[in-house]
Amino acid sequence: MPHYPEPVRILILGGTGEARALAAELVAAGVDVLSSLAGRVTQPRLPDGPVRVGGFGGARGLVAFLRAEQITAVIDATHPFAGQITAHAAQAAAQAGVPLLVLRRPEWAAAPSWDLVPDIGGAAAAVRAWPGESVFLTTGRRDLDVFAPDDRHRFLVRTVDPPEGPVPPRMTLVLDRGPYTVEGESALMRRHGVGLLVTKNSGGPMTEAKLSAAAALGVRVVMVERPPLPAGSAVVTTVAGAVRWLSRGSGGE
Ligand code: NAP
Repeated sequence: MPHYPEPVRILILGGTGEARALAAELVAAGVDVLSSLAGRVTQPRLPDGPVRVGGFGGARGLVAFLRAEQITAVIDATHPFAGQITAHAAQAAAQAGVPLLVLRRPEWAAAPSWDLVPDIGGAAAAVRAWPGESVFLTTGRRDLDVFAPDDRHRFLVRTVDPPEGPVPPRMTLVLDRGPYTVEGESALMRRHGVGLLVTKNSGGPMTEAKLSAAAALGVRVVMVERPPLPAGSAVVTTVAGAVRWLSRGSGGE
């Protein structure tokens, strides 16, 4: 059972709605909390309370940060596909002797019609093998390069900020960040004649509507599975679970 020395100072590794909700709750309760963002999106939704932006300089940099800022517990509330910062957080927290909790929203429950792939390369291979034409890609702007050599399919690509690297030649770009409705997603997929949806299993309600729309329209789904968490991670799936972990110093929900 982790022990929390007084005074408590919590670092939230953020970039998600859960991280913002947790920050809001802790700030409202008067807890000393600092949120950290990577600085990837141009206009991030900012959490309540103090925020720092930018990488730490790897696990070693994070160790130094935890010590300099006298952090007493870390909540990794990053996106389920932000595997590098999650690995760094596990290493750094262990090295600095700071308790760490991973707050990770539940996965979407698999549907029988999904093709599960282990990573984005697997998704690109599944698209290459698909005989249809119009593909809806919602895997993020930094994962587009693996689809760039594909000139056979038409890609409807939706990202928060514009892509920077190589993109597929037959691409229609939609800049949007959700949340989305089933009606809106259905209309978008119908308008572009989408036959295949490629997405990551991010979980959560913000982007779930596309799955209901795809099911209703008979659109196939290629689902990229989450990277595994570091061995031995303490994990909760809800903000309430994280608050309980912090207040009780226990590792479960
Ligand atoms: P990543 O690949 O796991 O991390 C790459 C590097 O970015 C890390 O090594 C770290 O740099 C820095 N970093 C990441 N998250 C950070 C944070 N919260 N605070 C400070 N530095 C951070 O991460 P990513 O996939 O680029 O995601 C970046 C951010 O966007 C995360 O905060 C994540 O929650 C959010 N996000 C990601 C996705 C996604 O699909 N991946 C979707 C929505 C939101 P150093 O090594 O220099 O410390």
